[in-house]
Amino acid sequence: MKFATRLIHAGMEPDPSTGSIIPPVYQTSTFVQEAPGRNKGYEYARSQNPTRTALEKALASTENARYALSFSSGVAASDAVIRLLVPGDEVIAANDMYGGTFRLFSKIFEKAGIRFHYVDMQQADHILPLINPKTRLVWMETPTNPLMNIVDLAAVSTIAKEKNLLLCVDNTFASPALQNPLDFGAAIVVHSATKYLGGHSDVIHGCVMMNDAGLRDQLYFIQKSCGAVPGPQDCFLVLRGIKTLQVRIERHCQNGEKIARYLRGHKSVRKVYWCGFEDHPGYAIAKKQMSGFGGMLSFELKNESPEETRRVLSSTKLFSLAESLGGVESLISHPASMTHASIPKEERIKNGLSDSLIRLSVGIEDVDDLIEDLENAIG
Ligand SMILES: *Cc1c(COP(=O)(O)O)cnc(C)c1O
Repeated sequence: MKFATRLIHAGMEPDPSTGSIIPPVYQTSTFVQEAPGRNKGYEYARSQNPTRTALEKALASTENARYALSFSSGVAASDAVIRLLVPGDEVIAANDMYGGTFRLFSKIFEKAGIRFHYVDMQQADHILPLINPKTRLVWMETPTNPLMNIVDLAAVSTIAKEKNLLLCVDNTFASPALQNPLDFGAAIVVHSATKYLGGHSDVIHGCVMMNDAGLRDQLYFIQKSCGAVPGPQDCFLVLRGIKTLQVRIERHCQNGEKIARYLRGHKSVRKVYWCGFEDHPGYAIAKKQMSGFGGMLSFELKNESPEETRRVLSSTKLFSLAESLGGVESLISHPASMTHASIPKEERIKNGLSDSLIRLSVGIEDVDDLIEDLENAIG
């Protein structure tokens, strides 16, 4: 079955007791057993919930994965993956990644004795010198947030396999509609389903996808033991969002391209970061591993003063000034003070994330209205 069809049908069995076409929101904490240990596959809702089961089937299908596990947030999903490690283990992570993941690694897991090395993965072989007998995991995003750098999934996964390391890809930015890292050899994919999968800015949710049954069992044990599980209403919202992922992403891509090209031609704009430009350093790889370039882009004004950056950020009317991305409505944000504020300034600037960078999550509104809004704000 093709992707757009699976989005609508995977995990969707009519409810056995009523025929309801949509899985009900099983708002329950526990399930009655016929005799001790004799049950219908459900015991207690931290361990399993039928609404969550339906969602996990749909989520697995989006990434061509055998298994998916769903979590109460994207960060909870990432947290579960790092809990596979033990003190002394080492991780190689890309230096240009989501600020909340950096905070999780540096403020929570460093304390637990796990070491993280950060490196620019645009050259996959930059990983090699950091590998030692304690290295267990490679963590990456592509395109990266917010600079839209491209990392070669096949190249990194070849190195990870050769060196017997787990490769985990945070695929939130591309969404499963544009890129499927497991198909390129990654062992684990994580998503903040808060973003494109949910797609409507109305739920916080995360998930992990994988093909290996042993990994699935370990991560399920972590999910159940640590308890970062989503409620059934949240699962329902993500399940509903997934069905329109393909049609939404097509419009995100169209609007994203028009806005990237518009901004690039604007007299007051210094630089636009969007991986669909033919002269983007990662263009050829992006073309190989993605089926479109998405609705995320960043730019800097020629006038890089903090006042001018602030003025533009507060002047748009359709683009709302807010963290997050991937919803149907357009958002504008300031990574340095918002999503990436937890990264030390020095580290941030060194990685190319300036104080004047403005990030857009281009929604699915009429693009003419969006361009008019930017034109009015930038002037
Ligand atoms: C938002 C985001 C996360 C964290 O997800 P939450 O659902 O907010 O916990 C992780 N990675 C990326 C790339 C994100 O954009």
